[in-house]
Amino acid sequence: MKFGGTSVADIDHIRRVARHVRREATSGHQVAVVVSAMAGNTNQLVAWTRDMAPLHDAREYDTVVAAGEQVTAGLLAIALQDLGVDARSWLGWQVPIRTDAAHGAARITDIDTATLEERLSRGQVAVVAGFQGVGPDNRIATLGRGGSDTSAVALAAAIGADRCDIYTDIDGVYTTDPRVVDTARRLDRLSHEEMLEMASLGAKVLQVRSVELAMVQGVRTFVRSSFDDPDQTAPDGANASVGTLICDEDEIMEKSVVTGIAYSRDEAQISLRRVADKPGVAAAVFGPLAEANINVDMIVQNVSEDGTLTDLTFTVTNADYERACKVIEESREQVGYEVMQGSTGVAKVSVIGVGMRSHAGVAAECFQALAAEKINIRAITTSEIKISVLIDADHTNLAVRTLHSLYGLDKN
Ligand code: ASP
Ligand code: MG
Repeated sequence: MKFGGTSVADIDHIRRVARHVRREATSGHQVAVVVSAMAGNTNQLVAWTRDMAPLHDAREYDTVVAAGEQVTAGLLAIALQDLGVDARSWLGWQVPIRTDAAHGAARITDIDTATLEERLSRGQVAVVAGFQGVGPDNRIATLGRGGSDTSAVALAAAIGADRCDIYTDIDGVYTTDPRVVDTARRLDRLSHEEMLEMASLGAKVLQVRSVELAMVQGVRTFVRSSFDDPDQTAPDGANASVGTLICDEDEIMEKSVVTGIAYSRDEAQISLRRVADKPGVAAAVFGPLAEANINVDMIVQNVSEDGTLTDLTFTVTNADYERACKVIEESREQVGYEVMQGSTGVAKVSVIGVGMRSHAGVAAECFQALAAEKINIRAITTSEIKISVLIDADHTNLAVRTLHSLYGLDKN
């Protein structure tokens, strides 16, 4: 069971979480719980490290920002003991959850579950601080913002859990953002692959890395709300329809062609006009961007008419836009483009569904529907299970709503 920041936001919330845990523990499950820090707490801790010195030692940053989870792990253990449930807290280093040396954005390398499992088998609930582990330097390492989802999935995989229940402030994964489309529906099931696309493309329910890990390790992940009344919910809720199960594609009987619509307004477009059409040019553009740690998302290059010049368009996040432009300007000589054009007011809207693999015409329908709304498409990319279009950000909501209805995702 994993509880996010809004679920452990204060003492009363932690008490309710304890009742959710008690329900599962008393129904005969062995339970490991992973907690985040209280909502807003990590932001405060991060801000303090910046106030102290904008440039600081990443190991000390980790020492500070991991503190929030220590508080909630201890408080939840107290709340459980108060309800008569045998429980104790575990910090990352106590388990231990080992990570690599990348302080601030560490990856879990290995979890030694022997002691933990011994306690679990005796019926003790383990409350584990999320977001943290111990690095090869024997110092606290944190996993990057939102990392306690990854802690939970990694721990579930390590102890061979039947399921990883992620309790959050919504009752599951929706066909699209309910704030944009009020007819969005909660999905009962979706595949790891679809969830990975949804998460990477803007649905903020789970940290992307946790979904990758769940997919690779085959961890069944159940997203559900911690705000439900703990005692009105049946134990082992995955059998009831109270959340969304993210599982292997094989477990999903009826595959719909399109499962969801995701969007991201955090896109900026850069186009290089009249680039030489010869080997090495793409490498000259994207090599320096990678070195500058800039993530490139969509990449579109045309086939040139006569084999001499072509256009190249790609997107980066808004935050990286200025830096990306600078990097490209600096590599102008090697790349040899004529003009660089950029734009920040763009958004990416994506149609996702594993059923697309076996259905023709999904893309054509999408383009027709957008055209009917007079929405211009700037760029298109596709994968086996996804179509993404880049459009003017002003049209985001209209595009999402249009596509949501087009593929029959509206409720009722
Ligand atoms: N408390 C950490 C954060 O805010 C980890 C998490 O909540 O998943 O990023
Ligand atoms: Mg979170």
